[in-house]
Amino acid sequence: MTPVEALERVVHCLDRAHETGFKTKAFARALDVVRSTPTAEIAERAQHNTLKQLEGIGDSSAKVIIEALRGETTYLDKLDGQTQVPITAAGQVFRDALRGDCHLHSRWSDGGATVEAMATTARDLGHEYIVLTDHSPRLTIAHGLDRDRLIRQLGEVAVLNEELAPFRILSGMEVDILEDGDLDLDEDLLAHLDVVVASVHSKLRMDGAAMTARMLRAVESPHVDILGHCTGRMIGKRPESTFDAERVFAACAANNTAVELNCRPERLDPPEPLIAIAIEAGCYFSIDSDAHATGQLEWQPLGCDRAAEAGIDPARVINTWSCEDLLAWTAG
Ligand SMILES: [Zn+2]
Ligand SMILES: [Zn+2]
Repeated sequence: MTPVEALERVVHCLDRAHETGFKTKAFARALDVVRSTPTAEIAERAQHNTLKQLEGIGDSSAKVIIEALRGETTYLDKLDGQTQVPITAAGQVFRDALRGDCHLHSRWSDGGATVEAMATTARDLGHEYIVLTDHSPRLTIAHGLDRDRLIRQLGEVAVLNEELAPFRILSGMEVDILEDGDLDLDEDLLAHLDVVVASVHSKLRMDGAAMTARMLRAVESPHVDILGHCTGRMIGKRPESTFDAERVFAACAANNTAVELNCRPERLDPPEPLIAIAIEAGCYFSIDSDAHATGQLEWQPLGCDRAAEAGIDPARVINTWSCEDLLAWTAG
């Protein structure tokens, strides 16, 4: 393993443990430094114990680099053990059934990794496909993709699909549900994408009747396949938005729009009572990481446990299906 690969693995493990503090930032910085320093210089500095003279390399990152050059993995093995994402036996049944991940981001919007890194990590986790769902233009703080950038991204995805076959990167977007329920993407592109996730990211506090109408318009669109993190809650920070869940989930069931079980630890959306309403309504589900870094692709167990707990039928989870079945369903 090269020093770059070792540091990438450290950042991956810290991300999956949802470590967002100083330590993760320091390792991410060290990774940047090592990536931009000639390999020979890194080896020479390791030998003469001068790695830490490089700005951004500290005790821990120097240790990881030196171990990598010696072919040792003591630090990595320990970190690997400490950062496993736990899963229950009942949740594992769902995890074993999952064949893909339908909601994740890359550097094209506000993710931290390249499309290729997200794809190869998902493949190494056992997936057959991912849906790349970067943000739509209106979400400027997340560097949402306008029409031209989305078209360029589709070109990159086509090239990667040639390289990574039989693994598949499906085209998609996490499209903003605008205040009136309109979707933040042109009709022709919505029709062209393989899978469309639609989510509310703004005006989360609007009154229940208006929010219900807004969400109904979105989930009734023939282009929308998945309703993303439906309540918008951030656990301990932001309450659930208010809407008529019976009506919205009934519309999801009637229009073949799956309800996402968002696996991000700070979201875990929807809350249990709403999952029960969605099951009752006859909805499909999608267990998605909403990953913004490679390590976060390992968050699906959090949603798998919740699916098992709620008594969802695994066959109703669209990303337990083969790529062909998923595409036939989203095209229908
Ligand atoms: Zn979102
Ligand atoms: Zn997202």
